[in-house]
Amino acid sequence: MPITMPSSTAAHHELTSHEVVLRLGADPHRGLTDQKAAERLARFGPNSLPVARTAGLAVRIVRQFHHPLIYVLIAAGAVTAALGEYVDSAVIFGVVAINALVGFIQESKAEAALEGLRSMVRTQAKVIRDGRRRTVLSDELVPGDLVLLEAGDKVPADLRIIRATELWVDESALTGESTPTVKDDGVLPGAISVADRRNMAYSGTLVTTGSGAGLVVGTGAETELGEIHRLVGAAETLDTPLTKKLAEFSKILTVGILGLAALTFGVGLLRGQDAVETFTAAIALAVGAIPEGLPAAVTITLAIGVARMARRRAVIRRLPAVETLGGTTVICTDKTGTLTENQMTVTGVWTPEARFEVTGLGYAPEGSVHDVHDNAAAIDSHPALRWSLLGGAACNDAALTEHEGRWDVVGDPTEGAMLVAAAKAGLGPGQVAQVLPRRATIPFSSERQYMATLHGDATSPVSSGQVVLVKGAVERVLSLCAYQLDGKGVAAPVDRAAVLAAAAELAGQGLRVLATAMRPVGGTNEFGPTDFDERLLSDRMVLTGLQAMVDPPRAAAAAAVAACHTAGIAVKMITGDHAATATAIAGRVGLLDPHEPVEGMVLTGADLAALSSEELPEAVERASVFARVSPEQKLRLVEALQARGHVVAMTGDGVNDAPALRQAGIGVAMGLGGTEVAKDAADMVLTDDDFATVEAAVEEGRGVFDNLTKFIAWTLPTNIGEGLVIFAAIVFGAALPILPTQILWINMTTAVALGLMLAFEPKEAGIMARPPRAPDQPLLTRALMVRILLVSSLLVAGSWWLFHWELAAGASLPEARTAALNLFVLVEAVYLFSCRSLTRSVWRIGFFSNRWLIVGVLAQLVGQLAITYVPAMNTIFDTAPISGDVWLRILMIALAAGLVVAVDKRLRRSRTLGNQHPGVETIGP
Ligand code: ATP
Repeated sequence: MPITMPSSTAAHHELTSHEVVLRLGADPHRGLTDQKAAERLARFGPNSLPVARTAGLAVRIVRQFHHPLIYVLIAAGAVTAALGEYVDSAVIFGVVAINALVGFIQESKAEAALEGLRSMVRTQAKVIRDGRRRTVLSDELVPGDLVLLEAGDKVPADLRIIRATELWVDESALTGESTPTVKDDGVLPGAISVADRRNMAYSGTLVTTGSGAGLVVGTGAETELGEIHRLVGAAETLDTPLTKKLAEFSKILTVGILGLAALTFGVGLLRGQDAVETFTAAIALAVGAIPEGLPAAVTITLAIGVARMARRRAVIRRLPAVETLGGTTVICTDKTGTLTENQMTVTGVWTPEARFEVTGLGYAPEGSVHDVHDNAAAIDSHPALRWSLLGGAACNDAALTEHEGRWDVVGDPTEGAMLVAAAKAGLGPGQVAQVLPRRATIPFSSERQYMATLHGDATSPVSSGQVVLVKGAVERVLSLCAYQLDGKGVAAPVDRAAVLAAAAELAGQGLRVLATAMRPVGGTNEFGPTDFDERLLSDRMVLTGLQAMVDPPRAAAAAAVAACHTAGIAVKMITGDHAATATAIAGRVGLLDPHEPVEGMVLTGADLAALSSEELPEAVERASVFARVSPEQKLRLVEALQARGHVVAMTGDGVNDAPALRQAGIGVAMGLGGTEVAKDAADMVLTDDDFATVEAAVEEGRGVFDNLTKFIAWTLPTNIGEGLVIFAAIVFGAALPILPTQILWINMTTAVALGLMLAFEPKEAGIMARPPRAPDQPLLTRALMVRILLVSSLLVAGSWWLFHWELAAGASLPEARTAALNLFVLVEAVYLFSCRSLTRSVWRIGFFSNRWLIVGVLAQLVGQLAITYVPAMNTIFDTAPISGDVWLRILMIALAAGLVVAVDKRLRRSRTLGNQHPGVETIGP
């Protein structure tokens, strides 16, 4: 049927559901057909926002010049031109232009990379098409699609709500209103604001509780979000704490450099030197002292870090996370799905009457239910077993799918496992739905810890018989029960002690245990579908049984936990599951030492609630397992750890995990099993939900921080050296050993050819064998500053001596300067190798282990030969060819400088390492 587009201009919220259905050519029960969906996709295009560039090209280019250090360069270029030094001026402006170009390319690349990463975490939507529930990428939604909403979902398009159960949506992204709004399917009059349209759910907003269904009325740019996007563009900043600190630093540096340049100029004038010459010298100083490559190097290093992390399945959503990750001191992780596979299989059912075993692993409904004597259990002769399995399967929102013989779950794996268990006993989903048609639902939530449903009961002796089914955490379900179902199918008083003992025994084996309960509701029709709510689940429920399921620990979990421990990072399990299950799994992945008493190591939500705010931090720091924890308590846990000075990485997947994820230094969301709300709040998303990936990301984070430190340690001595050599020349009234244009040559070419290659430096061995960097540790430790000053002094002394030696030996000024220039570059090249590791000698890490660096050094050498021997370059840069014996002297000095640094490293290593065990190396004193 063609889409009957609106005959009237009424907005969707003004129409009844039925009118909307007609207008959209939709089906409120079976959804669109696949064919129709495909046609509409071709016609309306994908449901995604057009990529909006934050700023126009021109603005982005101009922005590259907006930097205090660049202002100094521009001023220097202008003054040089005014003085008639056109070649110098051209070189300075050339540098400014190159700098801007590199910055621009860099920024664009980093943005594109982040954009690409963002698309790795794509929103999914649950739809009904062709009468079947399915999960599709939200890009594929089309007008008329029937979308299902559940707590934790991000609304994938603009929807007209046609069904809603306690549906609350957080619309703060759109309206700024921070409290969620309730949604229903009513009709609303005329012109009302977006915030008041209770029967609409808008793309980009988040479902906080309840469930519902809606018809897509707008996709992509045609949504309210698209409208806003068009207006403001999505500005994503590339700033991180470090880049901000560096920006501060460069402002201070600029003032300092200008001060020193002014001082140089003053001293020169006082000494009666030529004003123009002194001014040139002051400019040289200013230009030399500016670390031009620094901003680009930081962005590039971070960007490479982001890419490396993505390769290891950790997608960074906010750039600062790359830095913070390296300093993580505690990782708080979920159990289910992160430390374990989240591949649930019910292996046993306990009923008040007997125990049963369930065979077969995975989601294929192949296997059987039998009693402890291996006799197949006929459900008809075991009423409690029958009701437990029925309860598990009917009070259930999951579905099983089969594709080429592979069975899978759509929905919650815990529920999937219960569907499979019932099917193995002959209660397939179709049959269950027939016997117990569902009338109303109280959905599962982590706070509630159970799910309840109301069903018509086809087996009931009374024609209007209904039954309430509940499944959930044992203690919670038990608290609703007064009875248990005995072997004859009669409700007897519940034996709480026996139920709890059975549950504890199963949980002690690491099994996840859920209780099931039922309650027939007589013919009086006690509840109507609309007034079925929590208060009505009185304490008169009848316990039918316990279902125990295995969820094996992930293969890599134990090794990753061990790696974290070696790296001095504490790992804590935070789970909603039973303490005994949590303790058993914690033991298996190495979170608890089997030889140590568990006293104080395992805390439950109730224990936490009983602790005062003063007691909490210490208790939390000590414990490793937190069981039956509610999502709100996660926030308290993060804050307690932060109060102890920890940098906390916290994993989460649910809607209510969002506050804790935001509070944590690194919020980590699950890419596969996580809700959109959690992903939105997170700094990092794991595309495989695996704990080992968090550990890998921390490792990469440490590598990034190392590489940044290395670059800074490498680049600063050159700038300081250049500044000081000029300053010394003026103070002593000597000729300048290097000219401004030559300094620019050094700074620009070496930053690109040499320094940047450090960003490709592989992680050092033993990077996860040292303790985490202290949260307040400055970028440059005292030891590093000493090294920087040492290398700066070597540069000043070496170039000063060489320049004057050459002059004394009869060389011309250009020749002596060429020698000094080459010396600077060569010392930098030698020092570059040293900077590849801040503690180890280059021989230990392998001379050729970073090929890029070798390529860079060779490129730099070609450049040096060019500036020394190519006549045109000689003219531009005031250089002159030098002979072999000069090269020899340069080489000797450079190697000597390298030797001094090596000795310094060696000395420091033996001092800092002291009695620590071999292989553990620290940066700094
Ligand atoms: P983790 O926090 O490690 O992911 P979890 O999945 O056990 O652990 P929650 O999802 O908060 O944490 O579940 C808490 C408890 O609620 C579970 O231990 C289980 O007893 C019960 N439960 C879990 N899923 C369901 C469900 N779909 N229906 C009913 N009860 C459930």
